[in-house]
Amino acid sequence: MNKKPEIYTCREHVDIGIDDFVNYNYQAPDVEMIEGKKCDYCEKKAVYKIHLKITN
Ligand SMILES: [Zn+2]
Repeated sequence: MNKKPEIYTCREHVDIGIDDFVNYNYQAPDVEMIEGKKCDYCEKKAVYKIHLKITN
């Protein structure tokens, strides 16, 4: 599977989004509230961006 560094989800799909993120990236994500994107799992507006933790 290809890596998927960012996943956008609506409220309904945030759990599956986090599961997919961990499957793709083998690490726990940061979850941020966002606007202006569409859910990766349905046609609703996304409210969460699931992404890699920024580490310095
Ligand atoms: Zn959705």
